[in-house]
Amino acid sequence: MSKNNSQLNKEDETGKKEKIFDTIIIGGGPAGLTAGIYLCRARMDTLLLEKMIPGGQAILTEIIENYPGFPKGISGPKLMQNMEKQAVDFGLKIEHGEALNITNNPKTNVKTIKTEDRTYKTLSIVIASGAEARKLNIPGEEKFTGRGVSYCGTCDAPFFKDKRIALVGGGDTAIEEALYLSKFAREITVIHRRDRLRATKILQERLFSNQSINFSWNSIPLKILGKNKVEGILVKDKNTLQEKEILCDGVFIFVGYIPKTEFLKKTIPLTDKGYIDTDNNMRSNIEGIYACGDVRNKMLRQVVTACGEGATAAFAVQRYVEDLKGISYK
Ligand code: NAP
Repeated sequence: MSKNNSQLNKEDETGKKEKIFDTIIIGGGPAGLTAGIYLCRARMDTLLLEKMIPGGQAILTEIIENYPGFPKGISGPKLMQNMEKQAVDFGLKIEHGEALNITNNPKTNVKTIKTEDRTYKTLSIVIASGAEARKLNIPGEEKFTGRGVSYCGTCDAPFFKDKRIALVGGGDTAIEEALYLSKFAREITVIHRRDRLRATKILQERLFSNQSINFSWNSIPLKILGKNKVEGILVKDKNTLQEKEILCDGVFIFVGYIPKTEFLKKTIPLTDKGYIDTDNNMRSNIEGIYACGDVRNKMLRQVVTACGEGATAAFAVQRYVEDLKGISYK
């Protein structure tokens, strides 16, 4: 027999009906918002929890030029505002809150999400919590964060007009940010631990033709130098072991991301790097829990892949919840 939501929404000890969502999405980046669009169009009772503001890391990107459909590129904030509006227009409810803990009751299939001040019940969860900037964990990094050390060019570039910047990293983020920062800074030194870059070739071509960018190859950052503000960075040549100081007013660090999955450690098995393994339909190892976007264990982390996975997760969730209620269209 089919169960509708009111049958699943049980009474608590005070006799009040306990609200049980069809699904709760954790995270409002491209993966979470796309899942929201699809779930709301499927008329699933959906809530999205976001701990900051919707948009994810994409809102920190000046221009996104590899999201199809925008031949001249689109600003990260604009793309994400559009996605949020589209989701909200289809009926997505977005609440501010950080998921701190998730539990699953395998007997009832009801999952519980705790935030600092609320408890939510849901039949399914879409984890789209994304990733956060990895730190170098070297002396001076924490002390000077906000005083010359930064993880966001779009946020802090104007503070470095006509100044010298050292930038650590060799991936897509580092090189995109170096190109952006070069519009402000007088001089940029890219510090990379290898003798070639990881970044996409088109970005490398632009970087190598930019006269204000220098390179410190094979360089391992050891310490950020300064008294009250950043004055330089100490690096070691990985081949010769020689140390040198690079004088600068700011150090921008772009050495990858770590998945935001700390709150899941007791619920879902994670890979050794903290990512979530899923099948092709975004199902995790726990029934009714799905993952999409940068938290997934996968090869390519892009806005376009996050969106595709959000759509797939939403469709799989719809099937799962409707099966659970006995109302799926077969
Ligand atoms: P990433 O691809 O993981 O690159 C991180 C860079 O930091 C690498 O060059 C790495 O060196 C270096 N690094 C890591 N740990 C370090 C340490 N402790 N000390 C010094 N250097 C260190 O990260 P990402 O550039 O942030 O990109 C993340 C994902 O987003 C990627 O999949 C990327 O393609 C994607 N992304 C795409 C775009 C775009 O398509 N436009 C833009 C931004 C990001 P090694 O190379 O030696 O490992």
